[in-house]
Amino acid sequence: METILFLAFTDDEGKLAKAQLETLTAARLLTDGLPDAVFCAGFIGGAAQPAADQIAACGAGRFLAAAGEDFSQPRYATDAEAAEALARAAGATIILSAGVSRWSRIAGGVAHRIGGRADTHATMLRAANGAPEIQRWYYRQRMIATIQRKHRPWVISVDPGCFEPWTGQTGTASIKNVAVAVGDGDKRTRFESFKAPAANQQTIRPDAELLLVAGAGWTKKQRDGQIHVPDAEKLILGFLDKTQASLGGSKSLVDQSGDGNTVLSFMTHLNQIGQTGATPRHPKGLATCCHGEEPHVVGWRFVTQRRAVNLDPNCGWAHGKADVLYVTDAFEVMTKVNELLQKQT
Ligand SMILES: Cc1cc2nc3c(=O)[nH]c(=O)nc-3n(C[C@H](O)[C@H](O)[C@H](O)COP(=O)(O)OP(=O)(O)OC[C@H]3O[C@@H](n4cnc5c(N)ncnc54)[C@H](O)[C@@H]3O)c2cc1C
Repeated sequence: METILFLAFTDDEGKLAKAQLETLTAARLLTDGLPDAVFCAGFIGGAAQPAADQIAACGAGRFLAAAGEDFSQPRYATDAEAAEALARAAGATIILSAGVSRWSRIAGGVAHRIGGRADTHATMLRAANGAPEIQRWYYRQRMIATIQRKHRPWVISVDPGCFEPWTGQTGTASIKNVAVAVGDGDKRTRFESFKAPAANQQTIRPDAELLLVAGAGWTKKQRDGQIHVPDAEKLILGFLDKTQASLGGSKSLVDQSGDGNTVLSFMTHLNQIGQTGATPRHPKGLATCCHGEEPHVVGWRFVTQRRAVNLDPNCGWAHGKADVLYVTDAFEVMTKVNELLQKQT
């Protein structure tokens, strides 16, 4: 019989963020597929009651917490101590947590402490013939593996963006606080602050409905024999401003700054999509001035609806890589699109 522990970090208000709620959906799916499984929830953070109340109706038999000042900030030693204590208190055979940075830092260590095994980047969980199994991708999303393990405890990180966030009635949950032996040595690392770009400079928005990809074509000579980088910047930023889309780039484009070429000032290597870049999960994607070569398109694996604008009817997108290819000038298209968006506001 499995005891499944949904383990989550709480936010500054003591609540659960989207990635945690997605993992709760995964945990519920797995539990529901294993009729005799026991399901419990565990929280680590400054406060836990708001989180427990938020998911009071999730069907957990027990709500456990390691909460308080010692756990309010991310720190390997205290987070790992807390996760170990919660896993032991629950008697968990399977521990599921969202693969956010705070958990990814400790997942392997926690598995080691409890004599378990860890798997990361799970994109699917299910019960198959009464046994839990997960799927994850390898070789930059080119191969998918289905994994079962006999060893317990089994620690699993669930990739954000793969499940719908759990929704249900709030309520009043009764929490059991689990004692965690935190010594002074555990608190040598001090968290100071998050550093993030100002909201209007932040172009990477993992939760956005739409991904706009800009390719190197934006910085190439156009039909008039000139390059039009300032126009390109204005069009792309105008579109992002109006749609709050996330911005991706091709490798050729993001590499240009290193090559001393004329560049889009807001484009960095963090924006790169593809084999050596990111593999985001947006419902829709629009590629502009990007050729759609395989090393780039492999980063679109999890983008559900793909469209591209390219002057070249024989570009990579035309070879089955996009659902819709508009063979036209992206400068003209995006000017028109921005005008239409402007009218809507
Ligand atoms: C090991 C390896 C790893 C790689 N990893 C990645 C990766 O992670 N991500 C990645 O992106 N690439 C990666 N690449 C590079 C990849 O193969 C391509 O070279 C790159 O994606 C090309 O970028 P691009 O399409 O923006 O540029 P280009 O190939 O220069 O294409 C520009 C496109 O813009 C179009 N265009 C120009 N003007 C307009 C206009 N006005 N309107 C519409 N279209 C226009 C052109 O028709 C052209 O198709 C990798 C390559 C290797 C070998």
